Amino acid sequence: MPTIDSLPPLRDVITTHGLSAKKALGQNFLLDLNLTAKIARQAGDLSGMDVLEIGPGPGGLTRGLLAEGARRVLAVEKDARCLPALAEIAAVYPGRLEVVQGDALALNPLEQLTPPIAICANLPYNVGTELLVRWLTPSAWPPVWDRLTLMFQKEVAERIVAKPGSKAYGRLAVLAQWRCDVRIAMHLPPEAFTPPPKVSSAVVQLRALPAPRFEADPKVLERVVAAGFNQRRKMLRASLKGLSPAIEDHLTAVGIPPTERAEQISVEGFCALARQLAIP
Ligand code: SAM
Repeated sequence: MPTIDSLPPLRDVITTHGLSAKKALGQNFLLDLNLTAKIARQAGDLSGMDVLEIGPGPGGLTRGLLAEGARRVLAVEKDARCLPALAEIAAVYPGRLEVVQGDALALNPLEQLTPPIAICANLPYNVGTELLVRWLTPSAWPPVWDRLTLMFQKEVAERIVAKPGSKAYGRLAVLAQWRCDVRIAMHLPPEAFTPPPKVSSAVVQLRALPAPRFEADPKVLERVVAAGFNQRRKMLRASLKGLSPAIEDHLTAVGIPPTERAEQISVEGFCALARQLAIP
C-alpha cells in the first residue's frame, strides 16, 4: 500500500498528469506543501469533522486537510484531468477521501456529509462569491457547517470583513457578519501560486454563530441590503424608496437619518430597519 511519504512532490504531479493550468477554470495551484498545510491548520481542529473541499486540483490542500486529521474529505473537482492525481492521495488515506467530478454550482455536496462539517477551499475565482453566498443563505440557521476557511482574491476577502464607512463595505459584509464571526487569517502574494494570478489573495475564516447577531427576517434584510447597495451613492430615502412609500418615516423610527447612504449603516442598523419594514 502506498504511504504518505510515497506521494510525489506537486510539481511532479503536475508534469506526470499533464495538469497545465486552465484560466477558464480559475486554476492557480498551490504547490508548496508547507503552505497548504498552514492553510489547512487555519481551519482549526479537523479531527472528527467531515470536510468539503471545492476544487482540489492536484491536491495540495487536500493532502493538508487529511494530514490535519479530517475524518473524511469530500472533494468536488470540475476538471477530470485531476482525478488520477487525487486517486493517488485517496490510496494513501483509505476510506477518507472521496472525489466527485462535477461543477460545484450544480451539486449539493453538503447533503452527503455528516456534521460537524468544515468547508475549506482555494476557490476558483469565477465561482467563489456565488458559492459563499449560497453557504451564507441556507433556509435555516445555524447552517449544517461550522466554519468556512476560504481563499479569495484579496479584494473579495476585504469585502467580506469590511466595516461600515469603508468602500469595501457592502452586501457581502452584511450577509457574512450578520450570522458569522469573520476574519482574514492569511495573506498570500501572487507568487505563492502557479501560475501567479494578477492579484494578491487572502484566506478568510467565517465561523457560524449559533444564532444571527441581530433579529431580522432574512428575506426582508436581503431586500433592504440589496436595494441600499444597488444604488450605494444615493441617500437611503431615495435608494430604498421602492420598499415603502413611507421609507423616510421608517428610517427615522429606527434612528437612521434618511440622508445617510447604505455604506454608513451598521449590520445592527440594517437589521433594525428590516424589522421595522416587516411590521405589517
Ligand atoms: N485546491 C487547488 C490548489 O490549491 O492548488 C486548486 C485551486 S484552483 C484556484 C481552483 C480549482 O477549482 C481548480 O482545480 C479548478 O479546476 C476547480 N474548479 C473550477 N471551477 C469549478 C467548479 N465550478 N466546480 C468545481 N471545481 C472547479
